[in-house]
Amino acid sequence: MNWSFRIARILGIDVRLHVTFLLLMAFYAWKGWATSGRAFGALLGILLPATIFGCVLLHEFGHVLMARRFGIRTRDVTLLPIGGVARLESTGETPMQELAIALAGPAVNLAIAAGAGAFVLLARVPTTPIDPSTGAGSFATWLIVSNLFLLGFNLIPAFPMDGGRVLRALLSWKGDRIRATRIASATGRALAVVLAMAGLLVLHQPMLLLIALFVWMGAGQEAEAVSTGALLEGVPVRKAMLTEFRTVAPHDTLGDISRLVLAGFQHDFPVAQEDRLMGLLLRDDLFAALRSQGPDTPVGTVMRQRFPVAAPDELVDRMLRRVQFDDGPSSIPVLEHGRLVGLVTAENVGEFVMLSAALAGRRR
Ligand SMILES: [Zn+2]
Repeated sequence: MNWSFRIARILGIDVRLHVTFLLLMAFYAWKGWATSGRAFGALLGILLPATIFGCVLLHEFGHVLMARRFGIRTRDVTLLPIGGVARLESTGETPMQELAIALAGPAVNLAIAAGAGAFVLLARVPTTPIDPSTGAGSFATWLIVSNLFLLGFNLIPAFPMDGGRVLRALLSWKGDRIRATRIASATGRALAVVLAMAGLLVLHQPMLLLIALFVWMGAGQEAEAVSTGALLEGVPVRKAMLTEFRTVAPHDTLGDISRLVLAGFQHDFPVAQEDRLMGLLLRDDLFAALRSQGPDTPVGTVMRQRFPVAAPDELVDRMLRRVQFDDGPSSIPVLEHGRLVGLVTAENVGEFVMLSAALAGRRR
């Protein structure tokens, strides 16, 4: 359960709202009503934050559409009280792509601010921003101020902000992506500490503490993902796949296979007939079918017939990203010229990473 629900589908991408986001809106409505004593105040209290989140959504779609230009898919966009998160298949395959995707979001805020700026100049509206408690002032000016704030905040050169990605893309332009990530993560953590201190001691803003926590965790996650990813970088599937594994035949029964599971073979079984892959039997499907159809059921009636496969020369990290994006199974059969030559499992990739880390530690 991830505490978020779908509110719309825009350009083929699910837009989700986190539950805490609604709580925040309720808080603003209450605050608007309490300070003005009017229903209009409550409406205005929601209108301004909702507009900010509209800008955040457009910002996220800046990332999404730039990523799409490079053939990178997006799973969904979620709005949280602290901002938006677009789950991209990849942050970019090259530093140039990463830079373009990272900058596309803030560029949207710059464009909104510029548009509102042109309106203020041409329409000669008052230049004081709208005041949330009274409703007086110019909405367009308020839009400029908030979008410049979003622009500035997102360009802080620290993970997990876009500026962190910009920094990493520039630092890794010629060379070490891990070192670049470490620097961007360390700045992120330092910034989190500064934000927390400022929120607690100087500004007395509890919201800043929340943001600091988010920045701290995001910085760490990114560093971890990249250091694991780095051990898999450039590694072909051939090197990290299981070659000692068991296949089953379509006429084998579920009872036969539950004995194989107990004897300690793998969780998931490729179903094959004379080297030709017919299907894939996943452990969860096996258990469900045993319960509903009994042990005499042949595998052929239960196995999956549509599932992702890998090629031996494909890069492991790209293959895993592709499969995870599609919610694929935890075992991926590897085919070479239509022949089953291996099986990639999450455990085996994990072991490969640990072994590589151990060997890298020894060399140091
Ligand atoms: Zn962004």
